[in-house]
Amino acid sequence: MSGSVARRASHRGVGGSRRSLRLHGKGWLEKSQVFAGQGLMPDVKFIGDDRLIEFMRRVPGDRRFTNSQNDEGRLWVDLEDADPAAVLNGLRGARPYYSLKSALMPAIELVARYGQAQDDPLAEVGDAHVVLIGVRGCECRALSYLDAIMLDEPMPEPFYESRRKNCTIVSVDCAVPAESCFCNLLGEPAYAEANFDLNLSPCEGGFLVEAGSETGEAILADASSLLSDATGEQQDARDDMQRQAAETLDGQNAQYGLPEDFAESMPATLEEAFWRAELAECVQCGGCTAVCPTCYCFLLYDQEAGEGAYERVRVWDSCQFTGYSEMAGPPGTMKPDPRRGHMSKFQHRFAHKFWYSGVYPGILGCVGCGRCRDTCPGAIDLRRVLSEMQSERVKNE
Ligand code: SF4
Ligand code: SF4
Repeated sequence: MSGSVARRASHRGVGGSRRSLRLHGKGWLEKSQVFAGQGLMPDVKFIGDDRLIEFMRRVPGDRRFTNSQNDEGRLWVDLEDADPAAVLNGLRGARPYYSLKSALMPAIELVARYGQAQDDPLAEVGDAHVVLIGVRGCECRALSYLDAIMLDEPMPEPFYESRRKNCTIVSVDCAVPAESCFCNLLGEPAYAEANFDLNLSPCEGGFLVEAGSETGEAILADASSLLSDATGEQQDARDDMQRQAAETLDGQNAQYGLPEDFAESMPATLEEAFWRAELAECVQCGGCTAVCPTCYCFLLYDQEAGEGAYERVRVWDSCQFTGYSEMAGPPGTMKPDPRRGHMSKFQHRFAHKFWYSGVYPGILGCVGCGRCRDTCPGAIDLRRVLSEMQSERVKNE
């Protein structure tokens, strides 16, 4: 067992990860198998930069998407359309702006047809197998959350379930955290611990590669001619890279202090002035929930699709939008809306992620990726709001 593996095991586990392993039956390796060397411990391999694109193409799938970093920013792109140099930059750089959420839950999709005789009104999801390359540790942890919600028995959501099964995940360690990242404040490392098939760790001249599932092991075996065994020096260098990323995160987030117990802290501060100050900067654009890898709210609407035929369409919704929680009522009357006020919506985003999610599904609803900070036109920063919450709580004690 390498030093890195032992160090990975020493980090706090991700709530619900074992549950997600069971839920979708993809053959993910249990953490105990990955990290304690119980028979399925994969070797650590090395792939050179010059062979990485070919290696990615060997991962079985119909389409492959990966991170790219060029003058236009950090994006997800189709591997076949990507500039290889931009792909290498993307995998070595900070996490992309968008998460993997839209690959599993598109922003808009047809879910049913009705009004004409048909055997099954449910729309087809298709069976295209997608490979996502460059998924970050925070997104892998977000999968535990989405799985717990979307695959919950007795009625798992069939579209998400199908995409999740038809998806191979290649994660990559964050060598360079973004300025808005704060996974460390939630006790998590800047790399994946579960929910990946293969993991890449940037190193000098290439990447270290490890399997996280039986699928990943099979891919490594199939591509063995492209790979070599990672040396001890390369693994030590990987450990150093991960340590540096952790130090960067500790440094950039040193000014923030999050509550130990959100469920205890939050209710006591809901009337405090700092909420009003933050609210003043919010224009209810919904950008924060759109980019968030754990936000899953959606809206269903029906539209005509020819004579006597209708379609049911699902689109992403946002708890920040006016009318989000409005309920049905008689025409011409004011509809009941338990969260009509802006403050109620604004606080709900925090309360859901850090308070109610602890009750169901029992996992924090935030992975500290900082995407909401990057997108917010009001520069509203979760770290700042949560730190204010903690300060107020301490002040009031
Ligand atoms: S991104 Fe910022 S301004 Fe837009 S809804 Fe979210 S908190 Fe409000
Ligand atoms: S709330 Fe913000 S920081 Fe937390 S997971 Fe969502 S986008 Fe990332």
